[in-house]
Amino acid sequence: MLFNSLIIHLDCRMSQSRCKIRQMEKNKSFSNQEIAKILEKVAAAYEILDKDRFRIAAYERASVSIQHATSEVKDIWDDDKLDDIPGIGKSIASYLDELFRTGKVRHFEELFKKIPPSVFIFLDIPGVGPKTAYTLAEKLNIREEKNAIARLKTAAQKGKIEEIENFGEKSELDILNGISVLEKGELKTKRMLLFYADALADEIIDYLKKSNEVIRADPLGSLRRKVATVGDIDISVCTNNPQKAIEYFLNYKKIKEVISRGEESLVRVVLFSGQQVDLRFSTPEKYGSMLQYFTGSKQHNILLREFALKKDLSLSEYGIKTVKNLKTCPELVEGLKIKNFKDEENFYNFLGLEWIPPELREGTEEIKTSLNGKLPKLIELKEIKGDLHLHSNFNLEPSHDLGQSSVGEMLIQAGSLNYEYLGFSEHNPSVSNHSEREIYDLIMRKKEFIEQEYYSTKNKDYERGIKLPKQVLNSLEIDIKPNGNLAVDEKCLNILDYAIASVHSSFNQKREKMTDRVLKGLSHPKIKILGHPTGRLLLEREGYELDWDKIFDFCLKNNKFLEINSWPNRLDLPDTKVKEAVKYGVKLVINSDSHHVNQMAYLQYGVSVARRGWAEKKDIINSLSFEGLSDILL
Ligand SMILES: [Zn+2]
Ligand SMILES: [Zn+2]
Repeated sequence: MLFNSLIIHLDCRMSQSRCKIRQMEKNKSFSNQEIAKILEKVAAAYEILDKDRFRIAAYERASVSIQHATSEVKDIWDDDKLDDIPGIGKSIASYLDELFRTGKVRHFEELFKKIPPSVFIFLDIPGVGPKTAYTLAEKLNIREEKNAIARLKTAAQKGKIEEIENFGEKSELDILNGISVLEKGELKTKRMLLFYADALADEIIDYLKKSNEVIRADPLGSLRRKVATVGDIDISVCTNNPQKAIEYFLNYKKIKEVISRGEESLVRVVLFSGQQVDLRFSTPEKYGSMLQYFTGSKQHNILLREFALKKDLSLSEYGIKTVKNLKTCPELVEGLKIKNFKDEENFYNFLGLEWIPPELREGTEEIKTSLNGKLPKLIELKEIKGDLHLHSNFNLEPSHDLGQSSVGEMLIQAGSLNYEYLGFSEHNPSVSNHSEREIYDLIMRKKEFIEQEYYSTKNKDYERGIKLPKQVLNSLEIDIKPNGNLAVDEKCLNILDYAIASVHSSFNQKREKMTDRVLKGLSHPKIKILGHPTGRLLLEREGYELDWDKIFDFCLKNNKFLEINSWPNRLDLPDTKVKEAVKYGVKLVINSDSHHVNQMAYLQYGVSVARRGWAEKKDIINSLSFEGLSDILL
């Protein structure tokens, strides 16, 4: 659960008084959201000015990284640790340094001067990207910030947008709809990515466990069930002395405001980062029932209540009691007392069920399956033996993003994770900028480079006692072009041990066309894995549609594997599709898609997705030893 380095996890290692000074200063400094916004503006400006895609992607990535940071970037800068933030390279770090020192960045200011201010306002409209925003500003002559949205709306209502070249009635309508969403304020979704919620909860739980009053603490609700996005953070606390435990918690330094502590057992606060956190306190005798009750899901608990009712039992957060017929439950006869539960296992066992892992509690067939003693033995992180989708910083001159960490760094990290094998699958060299010969040479050079790095790292680190994975594999993540062709040719494919094919463009194709495209892409014998199969981006973009029966069928017959991509805003395949794939017998691979060594820990979220999809070890190919894997992959 702990992955301190994954995102910016810095303790406020300062004395109380310094903390206070810091808070006073806070008004003057930049919040993470403000910094993220500035970087987003830079990316947009670069895009409008047609700068190279690397630079645009670098700023977009940095912006997302900062949005999801759990510590203030300003604090990290104070500690001279900007380099530790994944996604922040040297040049962005130096601009942030300038921002914190002087309150502005000269280079950014110059850049923004080239773009009408209204453009950055238009970017808040859902569906409007930088180029569209720029065209609207220029063609409609709306350049000022003031009333920009209102003026745009009027122009749309008057049919002025559809008159612009390449815009039509449809885009005009889309923009009007976007404006109305913006005006209603429906845009700000309150949900957050699982990994972000997990990190926040981990910090709080770590803090709680430092108190002698706290026996244990656990996440509750969708966070404990590992749902891809989480609303508020709920945590349960087991203590013999709720009052003292509550007081201890209220000293937590990240609490901005206490919303309520009315009930003895519930405390609700808001953190400086804006999240609401509910803590529920319980004594050990009742802790199991409370944990069960507040883990949910609602649907699971409804079904469980119906199931219990058939045995004349009623369930609550305090335990189980009889409803009427005392004969069915002699244990509860005496005085109609409520039966408490220290742990969940006994709670479920009392009902005649096996304990149901939280990830399965979604109100589907888990109760029935548990009753029959047939619950799956879900895959666990410790069973994963390697990661087959990593982007090192070896420069293949791709059209998408490069990794940030070196091959050697990633190998060492893999060793510390006890991996047996590691597959480097950088993006293919960009097709538009290279000849076939150049593409071949680049891929060849990478193959040789990985091998050299492996041996030199091995020799260097042998003396230091660092254990590297036994096998390093040479792969690529290859674009499936809109027509289904792969972005590299036969000769290049032959250099690889295996390859991943992914859709990175033209997401709007119709289901049938997209299905054909994907199947065509997968059909080459070297392509073994379909990367992030739906293309969804959580809280941002729905995936494209595929004919899943066709895809499953093809994978099964042709020995192809669907990826569970663990990247926090992908988690793709989604859990529901994992479940279907498992039923179908299609094998899956859980990959991190890391671009930085610190991101290799993301793989745990892919494992959560697999578990929510009822997947066992036998369903996941990278739980195989290298021998078993090479039989089916190489
Ligand atoms: Zn990709
Ligand atoms: Zn990738």
